[in-house]
Amino acid sequence: MTDKFTPTDRNRVMRMRDQAHYDRTTIYEILDCAFLCHIGFVHKEQPLVMPTIYGREGDTIYIHGAAASRMMNNLAQGLPISLAVTLLDGLVLARSSFNHSINYRSVMIFGTAIPVVEKAAKVHALKVISDQIMKQRFEDTRKPTGGELAATSVLAVKIDEASAKIRKGPPDDDEGDLTLPYWAGVVPFTMVAHPVINDPRLEANKQPPAYVNQYIDDFETMVTPTAKSRKKK
Ligand SMILES: Cc1cc2nc3c(=O)[nH]c(=O)nc-3n(C[C@H](O)[C@H](O)[C@H](O)COP(=O)(O)OP(=O)(O)OC[C@H]3O[C@@H](n4cnc5c(N)ncnc54)[C@H](O)[C@@H]3O)c2cc1C
Repeated sequence: MTDKFTPTDRNRVMRMRDQAHYDRTTIYEILDCAFLCHIGFVHKEQPLVMPTIYGREGDTIYIHGAAASRMMNNLAQGLPISLAVTLLDGLVLARSSFNHSINYRSVMIFGTAIPVVEKAAKVHALKVISDQIMKQRFEDTRKPTGGELAATSVLAVKIDEASAKIRKGPPDDDEGDLTLPYWAGVVPFTMVAHPVINDPRLEANKQPPAYVNQYIDDFETMVTPTAKSRKKK
């Protein structure tokens, strides 16, 4: 396995090439800050884009869904897919409307899906997805029954090609606009997790586990590692 995905006609970034990254470290860091992706595929000549959660393990992305799902059944046929993950980091407000932009980290992946059918492999993939969202949760739950596993399809997408695009920093105004009287700068975005809301049917005085409280504390910097340095300022 090389450190980089080779740029090809499919994954080579053409626009804003200075924002392009092909190394696994950068691409996987972005993927590991998220758990929501959008999967694009063509079904009966109709392009479809579906939001879904995922888990990454090495060069494999696992997704799951109802066994009856159109997406899962179509992807299981080996259709080529495109998968996108986007993290919003801020609004870039320039002096000109033209130069307004977004600070972001995004990844696009190309690959094909293979059904995961063997029971142990399926449970493992479901744990990878669960861990991507919240580590320790899978261990701290009732495990799927045979019926629940049968009702759930799991697909493994081997990442064949990938690219990342990252925009960060201040507005990129034209030199001639710098003396204009308009304010310019960045509105940073982060995502935060809020304190838990107990299930009303929870037994009295049951406290959330420590790993859930820790997750809430860490969430902002898990999703946006730069939030930590900003907080310190
Ligand atoms: C939050 C956000 C908002 C955006 N808003 C706009 C907008 O309003 N208008 C606009 O034109 N563009 C916007 N972009 C950029 C957009 O995603 C494309 O990069 C851009 O439109 C160029 O498209 P293209 O088809 O010419 O890409 P090309 O550069 O021709 O794409 C070739 C290959 O480069 C890679 N690639 C392209 N874009 C991305 C990406 N974003 N992330 C990872 N890999 C990529 C893919 O592998 C793709 O197959 C936005 C991106 C993000 C993340």
